[in-house]
Amino acid sequence: MTEDANVVDKVRSDDGLDYEFLIIGAGVCGLYQLHRLLEIGAKATALEANSDVGGTWYNNRYPGCRFDSESYTYQYSFDKELLGEWNWSERFAAQPETLRYFQHVAEKFGLRKHIQFNSRVVSAVYNENNPSWLVTTAGGATFTTRFLMTAMGLLSAPTVPRFEGRDTFGGTSLHTFDWPHAGLDLAGKRVGVVGTGATGVQVISTIADKVKTLTVFQRDANWCAPLGNAPISEPEMAQLKETYDEIFERCFNSPNGFLHRPDRRISTDVSREERLAWWEELYGAPGFGIWLGNFRDTLMNEDANAELSEFIAAKVRARVDDPAVAEKLIPHDHGFGTKRVPLETRYYEVYNRPNVRLVDLMETPVERVTPSGITTTAEDIELDVIIYATGFDAVTGPFDRIDFVGENGLKLRDKWKDGPETCVGVQTTGFPNLLTCVGPQSGSVAANFPRGIEDIVAWMTDFAIYIRENGVTEVRANREAELAWVEHVREVNQEVLFTKTKSWFNGYNLNVDGGDKPRVLIYTGGAVRYRKRLAEERAAGYPSFEILTGDALPESS
Ligand code: NAP
Repeated sequence: MTEDANVVDKVRSDDGLDYEFLIIGAGVCGLYQLHRLLEIGAKATALEANSDVGGTWYNNRYPGCRFDSESYTYQYSFDKELLGEWNWSERFAAQPETLRYFQHVAEKFGLRKHIQFNSRVVSAVYNENNPSWLVTTAGGATFTTRFLMTAMGLLSAPTVPRFEGRDTFGGTSLHTFDWPHAGLDLAGKRVGVVGTGATGVQVISTIADKVKTLTVFQRDANWCAPLGNAPISEPEMAQLKETYDEIFERCFNSPNGFLHRPDRRISTDVSREERLAWWEELYGAPGFGIWLGNFRDTLMNEDANAELSEFIAAKVRARVDDPAVAEKLIPHDHGFGTKRVPLETRYYEVYNRPNVRLVDLMETPVERVTPSGITTTAEDIELDVIIYATGFDAVTGPFDRIDFVGENGLKLRDKWKDGPETCVGVQTTGFPNLLTCVGPQSGSVAANFPRGIEDIVAWMTDFAIYIRENGVTEVRANREAELAWVEHVREVNQEVLFTKTKSWFNGYNLNVDGGDKPRVLIYTGGAVRYRKRLAEERAAGYPSFEILTGDALPESS
């Protein structure tokens, strides 16, 4: 028992609950969090909606789905043996390989027997009499747990356009997130893809040469950059393993957990010739370098950003034969990198193919979906398949799809109606004992995901140890700390140009109610700053939280 000021009273035993910790989700985060909780001897489980582990890598099976983080940076770093035995076949591995990786992790650490599959959580209700959560699945199973942890993913609530007549389509239509496990034969089909974000770009590039015709329905154009994928040979893999310590160290110290770190220089520190030469190098190099490894002012200063955007626009013009099509593919509403940059493999060249057409929905919006295709204000387009690569109700969507009921009947979706408020990204007031491992305003989720996740899981696990050692039964975020954190996130986010754009980073999604207003979903202060903030919290004995122990419980509990 430690003597921290905010710990009141002491241990209560035999609480009659099913679990100490219940995690929602067995994806990238939930799987690792479960492993760590079991390792410290906690009674823990994970409820997973799917029939297997992997989360986003289980669901996203659309053609072309692959990493755009370097494979070897998108793996857990916590176990040397795991690192040593796993070989990546490509610099940016495709989805089946990634799913195999997470399946391997589940096997290796004996996690499957602690996961309840096919268990989609539909409600979680806080019990004020005995601080704990009653969790119910779609199948009607119920579980009680002292602490509830969320690891439902950031991008796991897919959304489709509200096109009139969408359900009348006579062919096959689907969201990329719901791609059938058996695959979908697109050969010889007239296919329409709606959406040109990171997902749409991967799908379009992959299927263009396999379908009869491909019609791309683009609303806002996106800035893309080359992925630079390549196989990893055996000697290269061996060499990579030799340098894993340096690789993880580099990611650890980069703001976003990627290999790519902002250049310390600002654009005007060098001549225009040197700038252009550096941009050529970055554009030709694999991964996010052109976005995240650029001069540090390119994502903060509008003039610097405009010059870089012009450089990228010239690349698009050089790669697309028809100048009119090239102009449509160049964004005019936002600068390069101020939204998530899709990485592509010969994406722009797709538009040079005779079977591919770009329909600019800004000029000719969709009027309706018909049984035979899509009607725009200009024409009827006949289709056999419509693929909606239209994104997600990001970050808070997965929370909204579960009926979280906290103290005094407060519903989380009501509390967060106008935007989430969190205490350092790990809890929200009114919802004691609910810990958000993956959730809004957490720095760990704005990073290369596994890197950020390892930070948050480490912190949560330390907190779990503290909870167990001190017999803590109740953890509640302080409202003042919550307000201070929300304000801090808002302020920090103002420093970067991305808050001026309409993308999921800022909570925009016109396919959902309320998605026309900005919300503070992401902390852009970076993983390093966030990690420091969490470490301070731990070192000071969790001052942003009120922490109660068992004997403080009412007699009736
Ligand atoms: P997204 O970035 O939100 O893009 C959705 C696309 O659909 C946009 O082009 C959007 O147009 C369009 N759209 C949405 N509603 C529409 C409507 N009603 N009518 C016409 N067009 C509509 O979603 P995403 O591409 O699925 O990507 C989401 C995130 O997933 C990415 O940012 C990334 O973080 C992650 N992701 C990662 C990888 C990877 O690691 N390899 C791959 C794919 C995705 P507007 O721009 O006009 O809204």
